[in-house]
Amino acid sequence: MKTAEIKRRYLAHFEANGHAVVPSAPLPAISDPNLLFVNAGMVQFVPYFLGQQSPPFPRAVSVQKCIRTPDIDEVGKTSRHGTFFQMNGNFSFGDYFKAGAIPLAWELSTKPVDQGGFGLDPERIWATVYLDDDEAYDLWLRTGVPAERIVRRGKKDNFWSMGIPGPAGPCSELYYDRGPEYGAEGGPEVDEDRYLEFWNLVFMQYEIADVRSKEEFRIVGELPKKNIDTGMGLERMASILQGVDNLYEIDEVRPILDRAAELTGKRYGAHSGHAANQSHPDDVRLRVIADHVRTALMLIGDGVTPSNEGRGYVLRRIMRRAIRSVRLLGWQERALPELLPVARDCMAPSYPELAADFERISAYAYAEEDAFLATLRAGTTILDTAIAETRTAGGRALTGDKAFQLHDTYGFPIDLTLEIAAEQGLDVDQEGFRRLMADQRARAKADAQARKTGHTDLSAYRSVLDAGGPVTFTGYTEVSREST
Ligand code: ATP
Ligand code: MG
Ligand code: MG
Ligand code: MG
Repeated sequence: MKTAEIKRRYLAHFEANGHAVVPSAPLPAISDPNLLFVNAGMVQFVPYFLGQQSPPFPRAVSVQKCIRTPDIDEVGKTSRHGTFFQMNGNFSFGDYFKAGAIPLAWELSTKPVDQGGFGLDPERIWATVYLDDDEAYDLWLRTGVPAERIVRRGKKDNFWSMGIPGPAGPCSELYYDRGPEYGAEGGPEVDEDRYLEFWNLVFMQYEIADVRSKEEFRIVGELPKKNIDTGMGLERMASILQGVDNLYEIDEVRPILDRAAELTGKRYGAHSGHAANQSHPDDVRLRVIADHVRTALMLIGDGVTPSNEGRGYVLRRIMRRAIRSVRLLGWQERALPELLPVARDCMAPSYPELAADFERISAYAYAEEDAFLATLRAGTTILDTAIAETRTAGGRALTGDKAFQLHDTYGFPIDLTLEIAAEQGLDVDQEGFRRLMADQRARAKADAQARKTGHTDLSAYRSVLDAGGPVTFTGYTEVSREST
């Protein structure tokens, strides 16, 4: 089943059950100063949940475009994390509660494909509930999940709050067992790759206060009007229904991956098994490229442009990481003119505005790639000189100072410095480099403290910002933790 069809069926199922169909909000989270990007379907409905506005409808359904920057390090390595993804969600604002939400989710998941459902085998579905949520437990039992496939889990996994005083409550997740070739038996507690989480049902039931963290607070009482907020990963359902190993292989992403493989002359999957942990590094890179190119398309499509701060900086890093990955796989020419049109063709059936606006989108993307390639060329020249000087002086390692200067002034990625130095038979004083990075990070932190930007989404990118320095950054650094 195509991704677009899964989306259509989701909307149709909930519309038939009295839900108003609400369009996706744009990716930049303009309504919430604490968030860079919308990261869940509920974000645009927060004022209703907090009682700040009264909802124009008691029930809603949407397919929300989402970005989760904290998941970037997982991309390509797990089977289930995209930087950009789409979250299908149904919402009740003081209308139905658990006894409504659970059967609605079950029905759509298991209804045969020829009757408009997703046709999942009920025997492969597991449900989790919060420790003391007997109500949800009994409802799953009655709806069709046997006791041995209902798992009680603690706060970390199965309790939802916004980390502020207000509504909170237990949640309940659905997992699909992909079978023994994906990992060990025993349910989601044992293996989250084999058991793929595809739907989260949040039951906003309590009012909390004295909030010290997402897991430390006091329940003050029951909410007078209880709400439902659910999120089903569209790409995850697509990966299940299309019988592919991960969400980079679904219809909306795979063509980008294939084009990248073609360009770089790699044969995707040549050395990999089914499970995410059996992946070859080249395959991980191809997935990163596909994910990041699609993400860049969606971000620029929603008005974000590359820059050295905030949302634009996240976009810049994502793009540069994609371009760099292509080069590491062996293609040295401009990559985006080859890849971005493929991403457009994948996504335009669901988002026709991408085709209409492609001239503008691609102009930003291609200019960014050209600027980055120029940075790489400049850095390479300086690096070559430094290598030659080190050699002449009889040194065996490039100084930490030089590596830091290349990184800091020219935006030249440290991993590239390491690689090129190694090719020339030289070490790099990584210890010295790291010390200089740490000094700079301390300065950036003090600076950030002064500006008080502390919120979740941005803080997840703190290390990245620190690594580049929001003001002095002129180029690229790898997103991975090792290099920051
Ligand atoms: P996971 O534990 O797999 O990281 P999650 O518990 O963080 O997922 P939720 O916050 O519950 O995810 O989001 C609701 C649903 O959105 C998930 O059940 C999943 O189907 C989907 N989802 C979450 N994060 C991603 C992502 N990075 N890429 C694709 N789909 C996602
Ligand atoms: Mg997650
Ligand atoms: Mg989870
Ligand atoms: Mg979840």
